[in-house]
Amino acid sequence: MSIADNLNKIKATIPDTVTLVAVSKTKPNNYLTEAYNAGQRIFGENKIQEMTQKWEDLPKDIEWHMIGHVQTNKVKYMAEYVYLVHGVDSFKLLKEINKQAKKHDRTIKCLLQIHIAEEDTKFGLDERELFEILNSDTFNSLKNIEITGLMGMATFTDQTDQVRREFKVLKSLFDKTKEKLPNSNTLSMGMSGDYKLAIEEGSTMVRIGSSIFGSR
Ligand SMILES: *Cc1c(COP(=O)(O)O)cnc(C)c1O
Repeated sequence: MSIADNLNKIKATIPDTVTLVAVSKTKPNNYLTEAYNAGQRIFGENKIQEMTQKWEDLPKDIEWHMIGHVQTNKVKYMAEYVYLVHGVDSFKLLKEINKQAKKHDRTIKCLLQIHIAEEDTKFGLDERELFEILNSDTFNSLKNIEITGLMGMATFTDQTDQVRREFKVLKSLFDKTKEKLPNSNTLSMGMSGDYKLAIEEGSTMVRIGSSIFGSR
């Protein structure tokens, strides 16, 4: 199977209303080019340095999504071009993204990452921390970021009941935050192993790597 075949196979299982992020982390440029030539324009990376190199090398109409954990001191390297930051998991990081976006006279779209998994190795805010951010006065003064939704990662398990339960938690938080976030329309949940479940539970954006590009 080629990358183009894999892409088309996955697209056939995703409704038009769900956005596909092709997760290309660790993969060389020629893999991304093959996906690009098959029509894919949205790519997800989890390391800023690697993403920046690919941004420099590849066509400029690609939307680059940062899906990994972001260190505050590295935001400046992607502020010029990043399209969507999925993993915003602290107020400090959000303020830094705002600051760096301002330097480039841009507004950077962000998703707040919520901790829904059982494993505590996964990053993210809990409900209290989420509303602490949304209810703070400082939040409203950040003019160079736009929160367009939430992101989360379910536990890595074959217990589908558990995964479904975690996705439901995220979806209900997503609905609950809409009052505070009028522009919120993106619920980023679902990866190669669980994206069908995620879509059933209300995902609007899936992040798929290994099913497109092969295992890492
Ligand atoms: C790597 C990664 C993915 C893609 O995982 P696959 O199982 O390869 O589809 C999705 N989301 C995040 C946050 C990732 O780090």
